[in-house]
This record gives sequence, structure tokens and C-alpha cells, in this order.
Amino acid sequence: MNYLSTRGHPDRKRFCEILLEGLAPDGGLYLPEHYPQVDTATLAKWRDLPYAELAFEILSLYIDDIPPADLKAICAKTYTHEVFGSEEIVPLRELEDGVYLEALSNGPTLAFKDMAMQLLGNLFEYELARRGAELNILGATSGDTGSAAEYAMRGKKGVRVFMTSPDGRMSPFQQAQMFSLQDENIHNIAITGVFDDCQDIVKAVSNDLGFKRKYRIGTVNSINWARLLAQVVYYFAGYFQATAGNDKPVSFTVPSGNFGNVCAGHVARMMGLPIHTLVVATNENDVLDEFFRTGIYRVRAAADTHETSSPSMDISKASNFERFVFDLVGRDAAKLRSLFVDELGSQARFDLSGEPAFKQAAERFGFKSSRSTHADRLATIRDTEKRFATLVDPHTADGLKAAREHLTPGVPMVVLETALPIKFAATLVEALGHEPARPARFEGIEALPKRVVKLPADVEAVKAYIAQNCD
Ligand SMILES: *Cc1c(COP(=O)(O)O)cnc(C)c1O
Repeated sequence: MNYLSTRGHPDRKRFCEILLEGLAPDGGLYLPEHYPQVDTATLAKWRDLPYAELAFEILSLYIDDIPPADLKAICAKTYTHEVFGSEEIVPLRELEDGVYLEALSNGPTLAFKDMAMQLLGNLFEYELARRGAELNILGATSGDTGSAAEYAMRGKKGVRVFMTSPDGRMSPFQQAQMFSLQDENIHNIAITGVFDDCQDIVKAVSNDLGFKRKYRIGTVNSINWARLLAQVVYYFAGYFQATAGNDKPVSFTVPSGNFGNVCAGHVARMMGLPIHTLVVATNENDVLDEFFRTGIYRVRAAADTHETSSPSMDISKASNFERFVFDLVGRDAAKLRSLFVDELGSQARFDLSGEPAFKQAAERFGFKSSRSTHADRLATIRDTEKRFATLVDPHTADGLKAAREHLTPGVPMVVLETALPIKFAATLVEALGHEPARPARFEGIEALPKRVVKLPADVEAVKAYIAQNCD
């Protein structure tokens, strides 16, 4: 399998070449040259596989530069009962007639990002050892991504993590999750500033090409193809659990921010998984909902980006959206460039409302969307506790509300549970008046010793810290 850039760069790459990279050299995103097709006989064969073996089958279709036995071992080591809390790894439970929750949040940091990041940690360690190379991952986090990356990379050979976060701005639970890690290769850097300061520092360090090369700086952001690929697997696993051996379609609703999760659903559908509808659920930051309703994609200014109670969906633009639009415009790289480089570059928006391609978003690709507000979130959390004695986190609540707006009779609707309620306890208390239960392994983590350095919002200070800790 070869990979191309959405923006038309002539080079083609193999999986392990793009594994440790971010953007393609022309600023595009990597995609496979084609989507491998899965027929009904293959689906029948895969139906009863344990999750790790299903992951191996799907990954094998996209990765041909790791020997199969090694890839199989990596999958087996990643998707275990011990790490994800159950044999099913992503157990499905029926909430009400035809509406299901697929649990993606029982990994080490209690959010779905573990599903991909845990695999990425093992792939990185494998590939770096093979090359005899090292990588220093530099990131900025306001919560979920940073902790998922740290728990995936802790103790891994050849990898160090330098994770910046705004000092004092994460919840005590999130701080405790990250700062209690005592692993030598994990460095928490609390920046006296806000999240944007952290992001600016990461950008400035990455733009210093001399420093970047010397200290082998890399990232693990959501545009990484391996992360997206890992997420394709749980659409298959959810499909198998929601159906009983027939080839009936299933719909999915996906709480969305950067469009990584739902883009994996799009890939699964393109491979031939019988997905009826893909519902994109957004919060008040409704960049994506606006596009699927109107055909206009409009990047928001910082002042128009809201801090909401489903914070992992607070985005001003959706960094994986370019992948879907590439398919939507018939994989026409020139057209894609005119939209993402010329129009977004000059006007921060593009408009497909008058084009046949926009109609296809729903008709051919199955996309629908909805938007939720803080009040909707609280109402859904309350209603779900009252009627089903189940607690959902604010992101999953956005998903549930959206799902109910797009039900099709006879088609099961699977809502992806993207985090556990304990991660967002303050909003649960606001909705219900009580704290959600805490998994036993997180009892008292706020009292554990913390491993974190505090630095000013200064690029040179962060560079000096990285240099000091790289030998
Ligand atoms: C990251 C995240 C999302 C958004 O996922 P995308 O892949 O960015 O669309 C939704 N919910 C939670 C809890 C998250 O951590």
C-alpha cells in the first residue's frame, strides 16, 4: 500500500515512512492510494475474531512494511483486557430500543484517544528500534491528548515526551493523571500562560528546523495516519456487536472536534462496512455542523471559538476535514488545493453549497450532523441518569442528542462514548448534583507525588529544558 498527499505531491510513501511524520511536504494530509475493499464473506470471517486479531486483519490491509508476525504481536500486546478493562475491548450496551453506546473510554486515561495512542506507542517503539533512532515528542495539551500520549509512551525505548500544558488550568483530576507519572522519559512542563501560549511554543520550536533536526523533535497530533487507522477497527467491532450475522446496515454518531474519529468511520464505510449514516455531533463550536447543513466551511477566529463544557470538541477548524473533502471532490488534488490553500488562505472559508459534490456528502457518503449547547448537555446527562441509570460524559451527551435527531427505523444507532464522566466531574455535578463514581485505580490520585517543571511562556526556556534532558 502506498500513501499520497491530498495536495498532489508526486511522491508516494509506505506506512512506516509516514508513521513518524506529520503533514506531507506540501502541507497536505496522507491518505492511502485506495481503500481496500471488504466483502461480505470477509465480514463473516472477521465477525467473531477477538479485537486484537480484528485489528491485525484491518491493519494488514494498510501496512505492508512490517512483517505480519511482528504486526500481529504489536496488536496482541496493545489490545489487552488488562489495558482496556474487558475482553471485548470496546463493549457495546443497549441504552434504549435500537440506540447503543460503544465504550471506547476504558483505557488508561479514560478517553477514546487511548484506542489509537496505545497502538501508536508500540508502533513507535518498534520502528525506532528497527532504525536505531530516537524521537522526542513535543506537544501542547489542555487535557485529553497529552495524557493519552504520555500513557502510551511511558517507559517506551527510544521515545521521550515533552508535554506543555497551561499551569493551573487543567482539572485537578487531569493534572493528577499526567503529573503523577514518574517515568524517566515523560516530562511535564507547566507553562505560566494559557493553552494558546503552549501551542505557540510548540509551533516555534518545530519551525526552528536546525533545533528540530538536532533534537529529533516529533509530534503525535490527530492528523497522524496511524492514529486514524487504529480508529477504523472499532467501527467494525461496533458493527459486529450491533448486528447478528446479517449484512444489515448500522449508523454511528460521533462526538467530533478535529474530525479524526468520524473520518475513521468514513474510511470504514469506504472499505465496504455497511454503515447507513455517520452523524457528526458538535457543540457550540459548530464549524462542522455548519458545513454539513449549508455547504459552507468557515474557519473561526479565536474570539469566535467558545470554551464549552465539552472542551475536547472546542475547535476553530477541523484538522482532519481535508481528508474527507479530498474524497468528496473525487480525489481531485488541484480542486482540493484551490479550496484549502487559496480560498481558506485568503478568506478563511470556502463554499461548496452550489456544487454537486456537496449533495454527495449526505447522499453518497452518508453524513448528517447536529449541534448541542451547554443546556442540551445538562438535559441529556440528567435524562440518561433518570431513565437508564447510566452516567454519560458531556461529549457523549452531545452524541446522544445528535443521534436521536437522525434515527432511521430498523437501523441500529451506535453512539461512540468518547470519555468517562469522571473526567468531567464538574459538569456532572452541575447536571446531577453529585460526583460520578471513580474507577478504583484512580482513587486518591490527586494526593500522589507530582513530577512537573514550571517554565515561563518563553520558547528559549523550553528549548533549553529539552536540550538539557536529551542525553
Ligand atoms: C478528542 C475528543 C473528541 C473529538 O475527537 P476528534 O477526533 O477530534 O473529532 C471528542 N470527545 C473526546 C472526549 C475527546 O477527547
